[in-house]
Amino acid sequence: MSSISYWIHKRAEITPDRVAMIGVKEERTYHELSQDIYKMASILKHKLLLSQGDRVAILSQNREEYMVTYLAIAHLGLIAVPLNIRLSAPELAFQIKDSGAGTIIYESETEILYNDIRDHVNFENAFSFDESDMSKLSYEEISKSSHLSSDPFIICYTSGTTGRPKGAVLTQGNMYWNAVNNQLAIDITSDDKSIILLPLFHIGGIGLFAFPTLLAGGTIIIPEKFEPDSAIQSIEDHQVTIVMGVPAIHDAIRKSKEFKTANFELVRWFYSGGAPCPKELINAYIDHGHPFGQGFGMTETAPTIFMISKEDYKRKAGSIGKPVMFTDISIINEDGESVPNGEIGELLIKGPNVMKEYWGLPDETDKALRDGWLYSGDLVRRDEEGFIYVAGRKKDMIISGGENIYPLEIEQVIKELAQVSETAVIGVQDEKWGEVPIAFLSFNRNHSVIPDEVKDHCSSKLGKYKIPKKIIELDELPKNATGKIDKKALRAIWNRGEILHEF
Ligand code: ATP
Repeated sequence: MSSISYWIHKRAEITPDRVAMIGVKEERTYHELSQDIYKMASILKHKLLLSQGDRVAILSQNREEYMVTYLAIAHLGLIAVPLNIRLSAPELAFQIKDSGAGTIIYESETEILYNDIRDHVNFENAFSFDESDMSKLSYEEISKSSHLSSDPFIICYTSGTTGRPKGAVLTQGNMYWNAVNNQLAIDITSDDKSIILLPLFHIGGIGLFAFPTLLAGGTIIIPEKFEPDSAIQSIEDHQVTIVMGVPAIHDAIRKSKEFKTANFELVRWFYSGGAPCPKELINAYIDHGHPFGQGFGMTETAPTIFMISKEDYKRKAGSIGKPVMFTDISIINEDGESVPNGEIGELLIKGPNVMKEYWGLPDETDKALRDGWLYSGDLVRRDEEGFIYVAGRKKDMIISGGENIYPLEIEQVIKELAQVSETAVIGVQDEKWGEVPIAFLSFNRNHSVIPDEVKDHCSSKLGKYKIPKKIIELDELPKNATGKIDKKALRAIWNRGEILHEF
């Protein structure tokens, strides 16, 4: 019942002619998608000789066949290992070896990277999406493996911003409950059309909102790669109703020349998650009359934990909302006690969407999962009405002269300045205070640098001990492979003294 492929086969029975997926090349009805799942399952089973539990690495940019492959993998009870195409060959070789994937599926666009990876790891099997034209393959119904909802479906490697990448094992059941949670949170129906702008190798690409939309019988649109003008064009052309992205995607769309005149009349949600979203960006959409809200998730929770509702997104702009239907949270202090409203503590999560384990890492699993709770390492606070606000990450917290400083609070203040493009605050050692905050930032083009303005602005909004002791300008802030600002790299820049402008 909870096999992800079952949803599609069942929809193919109920509403066969409804459009399930629109890609760059073609669109597929639920009937056609169901047939393609069988065709891909046949390749995996008969050509690549894979059987239940085998790991299959996928090295591809977004394309329709990627989704079809996920569904065929679910059908056969295999385990997908999606590879982040922005990582280097040695980094990917680590994930392939760690997961034990003996098979890799790639495409012509990733062939160079695939060849580089082969210098580091051997495969029993390889298959290119470009090897076969699915429309020409014959179709044969392949019976689904008997598997449980607790069987692994995917191993997603975390980006490693908090250490070595760990493979979060998500089950078919985790994906099902995430789909249900999202469907209930924002009322996804068969009339919805979700555009997939996040990479399919990231849990956000499949969990927000590809699977939830397919469960609801709606349509997903899969453009090849993100580019703001063509994303706007696709939203208009396909009458998209839901647009999910990380803040950088929404920012790029907002900065596009087409934004002001774009026809977003049918879009009922722009959702942002994955990283802190500046209030100014949220308001840029809301001021244009576009519903824009935040959610919050983690790879380990398949991914959604919070979503703001349509009743509250304006009134509570800046909050990530409340926990979704079948997911509970707790916020605790250092002593493991629940914190009162208004106080910052660590976020714990419990629910059927929480991962099974970290692949092959029992000690890491035991550290992260305790008494059924996932310890997120994220710091949050709850207001009197139960709305949650992100305060930052536990490991990023700065302790200066005994006071806790949350870099996110300072970053949000600096981001209020129109000339600042990006900013990140880290703690560095200080003889007197133990640690002090310093801020890295880059400026928008056409804006002159007015360092005192940054310091004055911070002084007007923040306690003295929170004002960055140094402000360092970079052309651009370093990002990790998922596009998040890489604080480890900033720390390394600071330690190496590679500073462009310091004031
Ligand atoms: P690693 O686990 O290796 O450190 P990562 O944390 O970047 O990598 P992801 O699972 O991609 O791994 O990201 C989840 C994290 O993203 C959350 O734990 C949280 O810190 C952050 N995050 C997600 N949504 C939001 C949001 N709306 N606002 C602020 N931060 C967010």
